[in-house]
Amino acid sequence: MTTERRPIMQLLVALALAACVCLGVSAPAMAEPVATDARLGEHPEHTRFVLDLTEPVEYRLFSLADPYRIVLEMPAVSWRLSKQAGLSGAGLVRSYRYGLFGHSRSRVVLELNDPAKVQADFIMPPEDGKPARLVLDLVPVSKAEFLETAGWPDDGNAPAAEAKPEEVPEGSAPVGQGDGRFIIALDAGHGGPDPGATGAGGTLEKEVVLKATLALRDELERRGDYTVVLIREDDTFLNKKDRVRAARAARADLFISLHADTISNSAIHGASVYTLSESASDAEAAELAESENASDIIAGVDLSGEGDDVNSILIDLAQRETKNRSTIFAQLLLPELDAQTGLLAQPLRSAGFRVLKAPDVPSVLIELGFLSNPTDEARLLSDDWREGMAAAIANAVDTYYARMSSVAQSGGEGLTAH
Ligand code: ZN
Repeated sequence: MTTERRPIMQLLVALALAACVCLGVSAPAMAEPVATDARLGEHPEHTRFVLDLTEPVEYRLFSLADPYRIVLEMPAVSWRLSKQAGLSGAGLVRSYRYGLFGHSRSRVVLELNDPAKVQADFIMPPEDGKPARLVLDLVPVSKAEFLETAGWPDDGNAPAAEAKPEEVPEGSAPVGQGDGRFIIALDAGHGGPDPGATGAGGTLEKEVVLKATLALRDELERRGDYTVVLIREDDTFLNKKDRVRAARAARADLFISLHADTISNSAIHGASVYTLSESASDAEAAELAESENASDIIAGVDLSGEGDDVNSILIDLAQRETKNRSTIFAQLLLPELDAQTGLLAQPLRSAGFRVLKAPDVPSVLIELGFLSNPTDEARLLSDDWREGMAAAIANAVDTYYARMSSVAQSGGEGLTAH
């Protein structure tokens, strides 16, 4: 072994170890407190916000102006609040949003109607069958008083990370390099002159999957600090390669393609999830290795001095890692989809769908149901069903994100840390 070769061999060993960590698919994620409920109450003296948690957590508070906000920051918790939580306000609070922020923190952001401050904050331990309760009592203050204390805490990393998704230029915030933003590419199948499947009642796949995609975007953005990238947001046709390219350009951490199916037997119904099949992916990796700078695929490691054999080993490792993650996410989706809409027999499938072929972006394709089945077709047209479906998929995203974060914290993050 020459001296130039040694670093790359060390890298390979590190990557192999990282891949092993991720193979532990069934290993339980680090236990986190669970936020089970939240509520607002308007009292004569104050507006009270209460967050129910399975255990007490440490927290801190700060306020931000323009618009007036109070931010509650905690360690990462699992969010299990009702779908309606935060949509409406009471008293001084107009609404609130919540979610994971970065890899290790959670936030609740209270949007205020008027300047206010936290007059009292405390946490009550669980007792008599009640959960732990984190309580904030807000009282009104003058604008001047609010502005006196408003501002980011001094740890210096908050402003860029807090920026709303639309304030973050696409692709400018690589995950795993300090920002921690988790980027999800949503791909509505078909579009433009390609309608996809057509239902017995005339429903077009391209239309219902776009609506489902927009609902999922809204749900993910509402839950917290995911950045959602839409591969198409209107009735536009994109070829499969461009869809993959757009997801990679956005440095997506997860790619979700939504479709609906048809089949001659109209009795068949239910959702299914596809990942890329084993045999389909190798040729694509080879093609990418030729057509693109391989170092782009493997976490920025400069391989320009290395031979093709090393490149292909690294791409193979990257691809294996990506496949593991795709499978983890697909498995997390199944119980959620089952509860929401029911599953096709053998719901976890693999195929050579070109749209799943990014070697470094975990990717799944969800067939939401069958337009050839009257029940599924009616569901795909229903606003309620669509919102439930968005919540179901977002639940799986939350769990996946929490699990990947715990892998990263254990030092096991491998090639997909762009
Ligand atoms: Zn389709």
